[in-house]
Amino acid sequence: MDSKQFRKYAHEMVDWMADYLENIEDLPVRSIKKPGEIIAALPQNPPQQSESMDTIFADFNSLILPGMTHWQHPSFFAYFPANSSYPSVLAEMLTATMGAQCMIWQTSPAAAELEERMMEWIAEMQQLPEGYTGVIQDTASTATLCAILTAREKVSGFDVNENGFTGQKYVVYCSEQTHSSIEKAVKIAGIGSQNLRKIPVDEAFAMRSESLAETISKDKQNGLIPLCVVAACGTTGSTAIDPLEPIGEICKKENVWLHVDAAYAGTAAILPEKRWILNGVELADSYVFNPHKWMFTNFDCTAYYVKDKSALLRTFEILPEYLKTREDNQVNNYRDWGIPLGRRFRALKLWFVIRSFGVDGLRTKLRNHIELADQFRNWIESHPNFQLLAPVPLNTVCFHYAPVGSTLEEQNQWNAQLLEELNSSGKMYLTHTKLNGVYTIRMVIGQTSVDKKHIEEAWQLIQSFSGKV
Ligand code: PLP
Repeated sequence: MDSKQFRKYAHEMVDWMADYLENIEDLPVRSIKKPGEIIAALPQNPPQQSESMDTIFADFNSLILPGMTHWQHPSFFAYFPANSSYPSVLAEMLTATMGAQCMIWQTSPAAAELEERMMEWIAEMQQLPEGYTGVIQDTASTATLCAILTAREKVSGFDVNENGFTGQKYVVYCSEQTHSSIEKAVKIAGIGSQNLRKIPVDEAFAMRSESLAETISKDKQNGLIPLCVVAACGTTGSTAIDPLEPIGEICKKENVWLHVDAAYAGTAAILPEKRWILNGVELADSYVFNPHKWMFTNFDCTAYYVKDKSALLRTFEILPEYLKTREDNQVNNYRDWGIPLGRRFRALKLWFVIRSFGVDGLRTKLRNHIELADQFRNWIESHPNFQLLAPVPLNTVCFHYAPVGSTLEEQNQWNAQLLEELNSSGKMYLTHTKLNGVYTIRMVIGQTSVDKKHIEEAWQLIQSFSGKV
């Protein structure tokens, strides 16, 4: 392909992109393809000769698009959203075009310095305490792994990096409701999932800090070394908010690293009236949230903040000769602030998003989502056949269909069926969790362009489908 053709197809594809986003509501939210259907339609071998972009793009439309689940559909209420927005997409186009690998300052000074400034902007927007330094990671899973590895190195005097484990028995703590990425990180960090303590939660699904204190003290009595507590600010199941202040006090007393996982909910901290969700973050050693979930910045983009920057760098520092530069002492070389050497230019899309929306524009959108969730919660609570299953601190509504006189077994079966039928309709996409053994439907109202009509339609559908299960 030459530049002339690139220009032609780029223009066509931009038109396609705008049409796609304008008409996305005509598509089924969740793909209706069956397992194996797509691979069966793909040639077994790569083409020997060049194919035209017309052919490739036609195949994209006929083979790939129907196999996509449309995360930017306003009736996407599943998981947590992976929001995008026009300014974010525009920035990604530029990023892909420049194709820079931003591992060190010299490989793109603007990327490094924009990243530094964006992390400062976000810290100000969320009123993070003084002393935090931020870095962009790919995902919250990676950031949590960084936190646990840094905690491990700090506690071992950076010895595990040198000598491997020499008999230390570390323990990590999180609540029963925390995300699976914590367990994954504990496994990868060599701590062992047997040494992850899942602390019980209260009636709001938040960690019981007194149980945490008891468990840490028991572990210490047994000669184990408490390493890190991962507190959730917004659990995946129901966006429960762990009490950071008492947890932080326990960590301070016991000299344990506190990592706050606010992957989804953290975005809400830019709202003054929701900043309480981070009360106590000043006691934490590290904090993560994903602009790629609820801050209109397309996947992937994770903001990770640490207090002890030097411990983070010491944990990951590797300086082969070929990466040494004259500026090393004056700049941030982000290669040593996380796991991969190679780094995409993610700060650009944050810059576009924050400037294009403005902080007020971001707040308006978030408030709208929270108000819609409040409306939806009201409908659930006022209907005799539906029941709210968890508090709604932000915009995730956990509920089930529970007609009067039905048993838990019936309810669980009906709700699983209801969810499948709603999703198969293509009109909306919801996912579930289990809370106290109850099959729970989660409705997350946070998609970039979701509006009142989408939740009204969803509620109509839920009511009419529930009558048929
Ligand atoms: N933590 C929480 C609370 C989450 O809800 C999620 C994903 O939904 C994650 C961590 C993992 O996020 P990521 O996909 O960025 O690793």
